[in-house]
This record gives sequence, C-alpha cells and structure tokens, in this order.
Amino acid sequence: MFATFKNSVFAAAASCVALPLAAAEVNVYSYRQPELIKPLTDAFTAETGIEVNVAYLEKGMIERLEAEGARSPADVILTVDISRLAAVVDAGFTQPVASETLLSNVPEIYRDPDGHWFGLTTRARIVYASKDRVAEGEVTTYEDLADPKWQGRICTRSGTHAYNVALTSAVLEHHGEAFTKTWLEGVKSNLARKPQGNDRAQVKAIWAGECDISVGNTYYMGKMLSDDEQKAWADSVNVIFPTFENGGTHVNVSGVAMVKSAPNQDEALQFMEFLTSPKAQEIYAKANFEYPIAEGTKADPLVEGWGSFTPDSVNLMTLAGQRDAAIKLIETVDFDG
Ligand code: FE
Repeated sequence: MFATFKNSVFAAAASCVALPLAAAEVNVYSYRQPELIKPLTDAFTAETGIEVNVAYLEKGMIERLEAEGARSPADVILTVDISRLAAVVDAGFTQPVASETLLSNVPEIYRDPDGHWFGLTTRARIVYASKDRVAEGEVTTYEDLADPKWQGRICTRSGTHAYNVALTSAVLEHHGEAFTKTWLEGVKSNLARKPQGNDRAQVKAIWAGECDISVGNTYYMGKMLSDDEQKAWADSVNVIFPTFENGGTHVNVSGVAMVKSAPNQDEALQFMEFLTSPKAQEIYAKANFEYPIAEGTKADPLVEGWGSFTPDSVNLMTLAGQRDAAIKLIETVDFDG
C-alpha cells in the first residue's frame, strides 16, 4: 500500500538524516460511517500527531482482510454488533491486546476475555410503544412480547438481522431452546405484518396506526428526532426499556479490534486507548445517540432523558456463542415467513 511504502521511506531517511518522525499513522477499516468517526480521528490526530487513514466499508471486511493476508495495511477495525466482532475474531484476523488502560476503561462484560475486541459504546434493544394505544406498564419484559394480548400489534425488522439474532441469543441464554422456540412462535403470531424494513420503519408503522409496539435500538430515537420527516414518528411513541424476567435490558456494542498483521501496532494501540478515554467516549456516543461505557462518562442529555436502565449482565461473548443456535431457531419457526 502506498501509505505503508511512504512510511518506510520516511523511516529509512530518518535513520541517516534524523528527520522528525512525521509520518506516524494508523490505518482503520470501518463499518461505521464517516460522520461518526471523523470527529474522533481529528481529535486523535490533534492530540498525538498520528495520521488516521480510514477505509469506510459497507460490507466484505472479512473477505478484504482475507484477500490482503499478512500484507494488509489495516491496523484496527471498527464495527457494530457482537456477531460482527466475533466473526472477525473467529476468522483469525485479530490479535489479543494487553493494555491496562483498555482493561480499566472498558467494563468486563463489554470486552473479549482474551483481549481480541473491546466495546466502545452500547445501545439497548428496546420497545417503542404507541403513546395513544399502549398504556404505561403494559409491556415490561421481552418474554411478554409472546403474550397473545399483543396479537396483530407488533412490528419488527427481519428476525435474521444481526440485532434480532443477538436478542434471540439472549433469550436462549436466559431460557434455553424449548422456551425460545415457543417465544419466537408467539412473537411471530403477534406480528401485524411480515418482518420488513429497518428499525425506524417500524416506528413509522406505529405512527401510521399499523401496529402498537416495535422492537428497535435506542439510538434510532435520536436519529428520528433529528430528522424533519421522522420527528413525527418519534413523537408518536414512548421509549420502554424491557428486561428479561431474570435479567436486565438487552444491550449490544460498537467495538474495536487490532488486526493480527497490523503494521503500525504502537499507533494502533494508542488509537484504541484514545477511543476508550472519557473524552473520546463522549464525542463518539453523542454522535450516534449511544451510551459511552468508560467509567464516569455520560450520555447526551437527550439520550439520558429516555430514562435509565439496568443492562443485562451476560457477557457478549456468551451471546456470540449462541448465535448459530439462535439463527437455526429463527429459521425453524420461519419467523420472516
Ligand atoms: Fe443500526
């Protein structure tokens, strides 16, 4: 890669004429959008002088890492969802990172026990409930979504989307296979329409009177409120934090990992540590209405206004381990059919 080549030229030159090490850099492959990442990389470069080159990908990160092999310029990957983090780790493209800073900034349940990935922000998977048609206290648990009282009243995106797979994995972890199958069948029979669209499309359907509750991630409330057309959708619903009967509210993460073949390991580590610092955490969380996870950090006031909740305490790697079983059950009950 050109950037790496340029770097080595600088390094060679520095050894004989003592040029300053001006070309320090870190290369990032990101599934997260530029508007979220740019403020962070700018702040990091301002603080350290290290350039950050970001390749924004929509898909195919694993295939790209595979094709590039040990010559990949990638140092760090940024993505959302435990299943995507676990997939990169399982494919063998990450390396364990030992850092006191990362260990102390990132709570244990939001990082890989072996140090292959670290969570940066969380988002809860919650219920959006019609202000007009759902009474306060009418929905309090995930288990309750299978109750016949919701017949014809629930909207959701595809059962096989990563967000719903992770939620189903959590049901599996709490209740086992037989219960989860019955739960999926119950939720399916309560749907107002076949699963379709994204999380925001379900809130639109509530606004339009097609259903009364939907399942979605918290940050979409902030995104809808910031959009002229979607604000009315958001205004038609309350944010409800359900819990498991024997646990808390289901959360997922955005996270970071160091690539196994990272050519700039020192810079990569500095960047990862920076991302978990309270300052960067608040910039990052605010940009997408997520929750920062470092001790002593606060979410945006708008996000805090939705209320507080107790996150489920299951380590996300445990959920990743249930992923295949969850997908199998979702397909067995033909959830999207
Ligand atoms: Fe999303």
